[in-house]
Amino acid sequence: MRKAAIVVALTLLIEIPGSSISAGYDSIFKRNLEPLEVVLTFDYEAYTSEHVMGGIFSVLDKHNATATFFIVGKIADSHPAVIRKIYERNYSLGLHTYYHHYPVLHAKDAVLKAYKAHFDSNLTFASWEEFYRDIKRNQEAVSRATGGTAAIFRSPALVPNWARDEEYFRALGKAGIKIDSSVYQNFSSPRPWYKINGIIEVPVVSSDHALKNISCGLWSGNCSKAGVPYVLFLHPHKLSEKDIAELDNLLTYLEEKYIVTYLKVEQIPEYYKVSGG
Ligand SMILES: [Zn+2]
Repeated sequence: MRKAAIVVALTLLIEIPGSSISAGYDSIFKRNLEPLEVVLTFDYEAYTSEHVMGGIFSVLDKHNATATFFIVGKIADSHPAVIRKIYERNYSLGLHTYYHHYPVLHAKDAVLKAYKAHFDSNLTFASWEEFYRDIKRNQEAVSRATGGTAAIFRSPALVPNWARDEEYFRALGKAGIKIDSSVYQNFSSPRPWYKINGIIEVPVVSSDHALKNISCGLWSGNCSKAGVPYVLFLHPHKLSEKDIAELDNLLTYLEEKYIVTYLKVEQIPEYYKVSGG
């Protein structure tokens, strides 16, 4: 009996090719890993060469990852083919204002005045109505380029972090925006999403720095522990070839460390049904 068992074991070892053995080890090992939801977002606010975009697409393909692109309207009008390509690849489309202006709506406030001093006054909006009209213009430009509609928004300079304003959300609501993704995750009370003035907020976690400094990858650990998505916001026009290679490395690192699920921004409320309100 014993001899037979050894023969069977040996036969199995001989017959199983190396790749199957390692796949077996992988799945045993992976059973102990924690899940992590990764949301890759790209703020497309300046023309980016086909070469760089191609590099980003290859990394996404390699990792079987989906993504969300926030598009500035002016670029959709001047380079509709690029935007169409993003849409045809089934990534999700969001808005990022028409000219990449900052939705600072109450410049009379002293703090905001100080902030505004850093910006060209032409780069802000005079009122929420003006901001609303800009979102509509952004939306129309993206629709002209793709035939699709975009109902997700990201604020340039992530304004709601430092100038939280009801009128910002009022303008989004009037323009038919359902989801905003412009506020940093608060790790003292982490939530995958919540509502602000009727708009769903999907908090962001790490910017392009995650590609320059591997310690930023540590935020993924906080996200996994807290059960919130690791939302990265990247800027295609700022990515060098090295950065794109780093994005590849970062995703490989995450996939080795966690059971990774890639999601689009608008999938978050459905995926984390229990939260919100
Ligand atoms: Zn931006």
